Amino acid sequence: MFKKILVANRGEIALRIIRACKELGVPTVAVYSTADRDSLHVFFADESVCIGPPLASDSYLKPARLIAAAEISGADAIHPGYGFLAESADFAEMCAMNGIIFIGPKPQTISLMGDKAQAKRTMQTAKVPTVPGSDGVIKDAAEALQLAQTIGYPVIVKASAGGGGRGMRIVRGAEQMESNFEMACAEAESAFGSGEVYIEKYLENPRHIEIQVMGLKDGRVLAFGERDCSIQRRHQKLIEESPSPAVTPKLRKKFIEAAVEGARSVEYLYAGTMEFLLDQNGDFYFMEMNTRIQVEHPVTEMVFGIDLVKMQIQAAAGEAIELTDREMQPRGHSIECRINAEDPEKNFLPSPGKITELHIPGGPGVRIDSHIYSGYTIPPNYDSLIAKVITHGRDRSEAIVRMRRALDEMVVEGVETTIPFHKKVLQHPDFIAGNVNTGFLTQFLK
Ligand code: ADP
Repeated sequence: MFKKILVANRGEIALRIIRACKELGVPTVAVYSTADRDSLHVFFADESVCIGPPLASDSYLKPARLIAAAEISGADAIHPGYGFLAESADFAEMCAMNGIIFIGPKPQTISLMGDKAQAKRTMQTAKVPTVPGSDGVIKDAAEALQLAQTIGYPVIVKASAGGGGRGMRIVRGAEQMESNFEMACAEAESAFGSGEVYIEKYLENPRHIEIQVMGLKDGRVLAFGERDCSIQRRHQKLIEESPSPAVTPKLRKKFIEAAVEGARSVEYLYAGTMEFLLDQNGDFYFMEMNTRIQVEHPVTEMVFGIDLVKMQIQAAAGEAIELTDREMQPRGHSIECRINAEDPEKNFLPSPGKITELHIPGGPGVRIDSHIYSGYTIPPNYDSLIAKVITHGRDRSEAIVRMRRALDEMVVEGVETTIPFHKKVLQHPDFIAGNVNTGFLTQFLK
């Protein structure tokens, strides 16, 4: 096992990783910007190092500062969490050059999958179905126009370096192509520093289904079922669940086969997620792979009774991962609501500030992953996720009822949150019936 792990992140995920390390008996080093001086992850870690000012580009996104922090604290491994440098092949490479284990896949795998156009091509070679579209990057609107004619409208122009639901434009007809194409390129350039885009068929109201994988050093790839992340606002997930109400045992088997085959074809290591779109005919298509632990990983942990963060650390440390057949079978149903400090009444405007009062729910089947506390000030500099409320029940309806109860118990004062919004979604007949797709929230919010 590692001697000491540096957690190159903040917020709930930093805390989540520190908790896993504690259970493994591994000392931890937290890093923090000056805006996060009073964060829980700083208090919970064994040591902490300040890595710069509030701006992420001057702190959490500065590879050299993180490597230096690992060196002065004597950490032999770095866990990147999600976001920030978690999917930076350069950072993973720098860790290796400095003799530090990066807890994630190889740098080559990160860059291969980080280029979404290239990732799709790689999956096609592995015979994993992909969304019909361009064979890699498109150079101009004229080429896009030509291709769209063969694919058929609507199409979606997507940033090859994209992430977080940004840099995507739907094009419903030829007359909209030129302006949308230019906008997508400009958005991609400013958000990701690369204006490269590709196009694919825009599927109407699909479900977002993803498979959790864990690649091991001995070449095995384990799969822990699916998560349904169809409840999205502007392509960003807000509610996730496992299993998906739309996935039958037969379909699950096909999903898992495709995900495992795809991951194996790139010799994938440790925790990763293969993301797919499932259309209304029951056909599914690979969309992208995330080469890290994801925000929504707890719903998988709840139904499988496993700890994915501990498992990825153990696997990276070269420890044997052995699971019984029973441990590979999901039990019951789990749902996660992402609680953001945002005002749903004001178009989800971020609402940073001081939490004056806090009550965290509890009771059977309720799990809270959060870094907030009463008196904590949410800084305006980072994303607005303040807590993940996760429930587990023997079936979907029990998980929903528990979620409603948990959200009723939860009190966060001083800032606006998305709790009231979640409560409304949880009452919606279509949500209750499991009859949702990625277009659900657009309709719901109208
Ligand atoms: P990101 O990396 O930014 O999260 P993804 O490629 O994972 O981007 O897509 C995010 C979401 O955008 C999907 O879950 C889906 O709702 C929507 N989306 C992306 N591609 C398509 C498509 N071809 N057809 C329909 N919806 C899509």
